[in-house]
Amino acid sequence: MKDTQLVEALRDAVGSQWVLDAEVDRTVYAYDASPRHRALPDVVVLPASTGEVQAVVRLAAERGVPVVPRGQATNLSGGTVPAEGGIVLSLNRMNRFLELDRENLTATVEPGVITAELHRRVEAEGLFYPPDPGSVAVSTLGGNVAENAGGLRGLKYGVTGDYVIGLEAVLPDGDRIVTGGKNVKDVAGYDLTQLLVGSEGTLGIVTRITVRLLPLPAHRQVALAVYHDLEQAARSVERIIAGRIIPATLEFLDRGTIEAVEAFAHVGLPTDAEALLLLAQDGPEEQVARDVAAAAAICREEGAVRVEVGRTPEEGDRLMAARRAALSALARMRPTTILEDATVPRSRLVEMLRAIQGAAARHRLTICTFGHAGDGNLHPTCLTDERDEEEAERVEAAFEEIFRAAIELGGTITGEHGVGLSKREYLEWKLGPAGVAVMTAIKDALDPRHLLNPGKIFPRSTPRRLVVRQG
Ligand SMILES: Cc1cc2nc3c(=O)[nH]c(=O)nc-3n(C[C@H](O)[C@H](O)[C@H](O)COP(=O)(O)OP(=O)(O)OC[C@H]3O[C@@H](n4cnc5c(N)ncnc54)[C@H](O)[C@@H]3O)c2cc1C
Repeated sequence: MKDTQLVEALRDAVGSQWVLDAEVDRTVYAYDASPRHRALPDVVVLPASTGEVQAVVRLAAERGVPVVPRGQATNLSGGTVPAEGGIVLSLNRMNRFLELDRENLTATVEPGVITAELHRRVEAEGLFYPPDPGSVAVSTLGGNVAENAGGLRGLKYGVTGDYVIGLEAVLPDGDRIVTGGKNVKDVAGYDLTQLLVGSEGTLGIVTRITVRLLPLPAHRQVALAVYHDLEQAARSVERIIAGRIIPATLEFLDRGTIEAVEAFAHVGLPTDAEALLLLAQDGPEEQVARDVAAAAAICREEGAVRVEVGRTPEEGDRLMAARRAALSALARMRPTTILEDATVPRSRLVEMLRAIQGAAARHRLTICTFGHAGDGNLHPTCLTDERDEEEAERVEAAFEEIFRAAIELGGTITGEHGVGLSKREYLEWKLGPAGVAVMTAIKDALDPRHLLNPGKIFPRSTPRRLVVRQG
């Protein structure tokens, strides 16, 4: 069926060139960074303002057509794949930096602003926006808010939601709401700002974001600890935290990841190591020096064969860039790279690593692990080939074991990548039936027909398939 009327109405609403319905264009929007999910949207719309977003959402609501908000599609959980067809709504044109408020220490941006661009703008003024997902050079603030993205500085500074204090959003019926603002404190009713944070585009389309800023730390130092034993590295993490040292960054790489990153980035990582810890601390010079020295001492006591403290900021930046390249480096090894997001209390890291290694061995798979170890957030990454059905089944079974182990250790199925399509079947393991029922009730209240990003988060979605078919 061809719904040319809807396409025409969308063209009237946002301008003809911002509505893409040719198959070649739609194909580009059928993917995100998660390898296992693909679905063609029926039409792609690129609005330039909140008013245009409202117009598109109203047209979709009138016809019962799904709308899938999209930033840069770097999410790793199938979040922007239009599983039930409909409209993919790209927020990339809404990329204006609206305000830097030097008195209140806030920044207000449109959702399509790239995270690294926000960093650059505020750091030029001696201010600091801490959240920095590994995808910082590409991801958008809208996507960061919708996933409540974490990143390499989460250990000391927390995640995106810890900085979002105000939002404007378009609800599934096209109404606009404004939540929060620039107030440091605001308890006027339910916290709708934080309800939207991490809602994965299922409750509203974020069209404006206000974040709080910090003063830019004066000093920063990076250190690298090299181990011949994986568990010694994990134990070092547990002891650093228990020792009340809270570095800005405490990242872990296992041997497979080290080898892949070194082959990709050539930064001089020791490829004979079984594990590396990459640690960064920022703040006043004296405290940075004290914390790095104390953490280095713990690493040595736990068996690190070498601890190198970065001599220059450039050296530190190079090591951090290498860590950010981990996924890209691993993705070169085999046709399909499946990265997961199991997270446990930091005191259970050693057990979690054992569980990952056990699952890999039992199912005869290559799983490399890296991640934000200081947050207890590991990224077991399976190098596989989705065309091999027998292997794909083993991959599924291994990740099921990994998720179960995370839950048994008091952890969660996702620390920062969201549920999306990838983990919806496991949601109940974490929340229990009552928890899922509460979340479903919230979704039903705001989006009774499940038109906004349908199929995501919840194991049972409305089976409504799409709507606009060309041809
Ligand atoms: C190499 C690499 C490294 C990564 N490292 C990290 C990391 O360290 N930490 C981390 O947390 N994540 C990481 N990610 C995952 C991903 O980058 C983040 O989730 C990021 O926040 C997604 O931003 P995006 O603009 O690409 O959003 P998208 O992928 O386009 O969208 C993500 C979700 O948000 C929704 N959405 C997008 N825009 C809006 C909006 N304006 N309103 C409402 N909903 C919206 C979408 O529907 C989707 O559900 C990484 C990904 C890659 C590829």
